[in-house]
Amino acid sequence: MRRFNKDFNAPPDALQRGFEEKKENLLERKAEHYFESRIYNTAAKPELKPLYHGKCAYCESMMSDDAFTVEHYRPKRGSHSYYWLGYEWSNLLPVCKKCNHAKGDRFPVGVPSRVLPDSDKKGRVKNPQLLPNGDLDIDAMKADHPYLLGEKPYLLHPEIDEPEEFLYVKRTGELASKIEKEVNEYHYKRADKTINLTHLNREILIWKRRNIIESCENLLRNQTVRFLKEKDHQHNLPSSIRLAFFVVFEIIENQFKDDQEYTLTGWCIWTNIKETLFKTICENNQEIEQMLDYALNLYIESKC
Ligand SMILES: [Zn+2]
Repeated sequence: MRRFNKDFNAPPDALQRGFEEKKENLLERKAEHYFESRIYNTAAKPELKPLYHGKCAYCESMMSDDAFTVEHYRPKRGSHSYYWLGYEWSNLLPVCKKCNHAKGDRFPVGVPSRVLPDSDKKGRVKNPQLLPNGDLDIDAMKADHPYLLGEKPYLLHPEIDEPEEFLYVKRTGELASKIEKEVNEYHYKRADKTINLTHLNREILIWKRRNIIESCENLLRNQTVRFLKEKDHQHNLPSSIRLAFFVVFEIIENQFKDDQEYTLTGWCIWTNIKETLFKTICENNQEIEQMLDYALNLYIESKC
């Protein structure tokens, strides 16, 4: 999962029109309302697809039209229905069939489902927030509004949260919580439950992420070996370092460009390149490590 920015105040016209059309029936029938996929799916898809570069908002796999579904972050139906968000733009995410099926109607939150009537504790949201004149409070339907965030949702929202702060990819390709339980239990649980709810550690995803890590490692290792062999014949060391390593760094950096799959993996490799790739390749040889550090600094300087 990576961060994407969506303007919550600018839903697609057809989605907005469909919501206006269905509002009365929706508020009357609540979870029993017939949610029309031509509105929440067909109307939202043309804008969600380019926004996410055709990828799943949870697992980052590229989706064929057949695998593309529009997921309700907060479920429209089920044991706890957020029916009034069935056509809400900030509640709709492009998600592959596998992730959507895994998550189903689940939406665990940190606050209790029931609180005593006189308690000042926050409980799970059961109904939409209304304005004094009885109309729907449209602002309080946005996924980032305190009315909804007060529930302390566990599932990360790629348009509100910064997934990179919660999740990291291990060398094995497995996704894990970046935050330790002892440091912040709620944040730890957010990462952990997001992984488990959407099955982000399913075998194929681990394999794809491990593949990216291994190809980056191999690329840098082979280039390092080649460079060391030819080093003594080089007259201008900085320029031969540039020639040998800039192309490799560029390929690694490209792994987390928005249009790539599994960019969290590329991002983890790049932002920890010294601790991960360099250490693996150098195997405690300080001279090689210094040379790679030098090459990296040259590369970063060249980008400024
Ligand atoms: Zn997915």
